[in-house]
Amino acid sequence: MPITAEIRKQLLSLLGAKPKRGAAPGASSSQPVLISEGTCPVCSEDVVFVAHHPHLRDHFRCASCGSIPRERALMATLESYFPEWRDRVIHESSPGDHGASRRLARECHGYIASHYLPGVASGRLVGAVRSENLQDLSFADASIDLHVTQDVIEHVFHPAQVFREIARTLKPGGAHVFTVPLVRRHEASRARARLSDDGRIVHLEPPEYHGNPTVEEGSLVTMDWGFDICRHIFEASGLFTHVVQIDDLSRGIRAQYIEVLVTVKPAVSGAPVGA
Ligand SMILES: [Zn+2]
Repeated sequence: MPITAEIRKQLLSLLGAKPKRGAAPGASSSQPVLISEGTCPVCSEDVVFVAHHPHLRDHFRCASCGSIPRERALMATLESYFPEWRDRVIHESSPGDHGASRRLARECHGYIASHYLPGVASGRLVGAVRSENLQDLSFADASIDLHVTQDVIEHVFHPAQVFREIARTLKPGGAHVFTVPLVRRHEASRARARLSDDGRIVHLEPPEYHGNPTVEEGSLVTMDWGFDICRHIFEASGLFTHVVQIDDLSRGIRAQYIEVLVTVKPAVSGAPVGA
């Protein structure tokens, strides 16, 4: 790719600039640990990708839109599997207000965003925010083309019920396209926390939280998933899951734990599609 005036401008500003968002404590603002030119799958611009911290998953950002690698991997996978996504009905649970979520909201006319609002029934609006509990979705059977979740499935207490609800509400030929950190790799997935019969949280491992703009302390990680998540999904829903691994600096896609999972509901009528 030729170095355009815009890329040169981004390079110059980055070499002396701080990252746009989310600098880690102790991160150096002067020396990038990784810098690369390419085309961003989230903003579609020819850009510079830069990381000022070795934890690339959260810090290797597009200088134009601020996206991180898993968002670019998700958009690249969506384009590859479902190039007509703009014309589909997409439901995204717990979207961000930037990056891939913003792109989907802007370009897909059938985009539905929802958040988990404890105590609010699925389908209800609180202001402009739609409540949906992934364990008990308000959507009709076979009404959604694409469910999208980004780093959500490691925070649910009853994943099998989530996988069943997603399978129920997907149209034949649809899919759940999602990121989830498969930190256990080839080891068995492991619960970090569960709910007791009276609804209390029981910690099985030291509590770990991920940032969540709607919850002050962040979201509790309930599961450490490995590749056997695909078996868990199959056992719950009867659906097969593809694990997409992309490493491509020309699209700014490089980091640990950025597999994109695509759980597919067969298009052929009569095929097994789950519970
Ligand atoms: Zn971008």
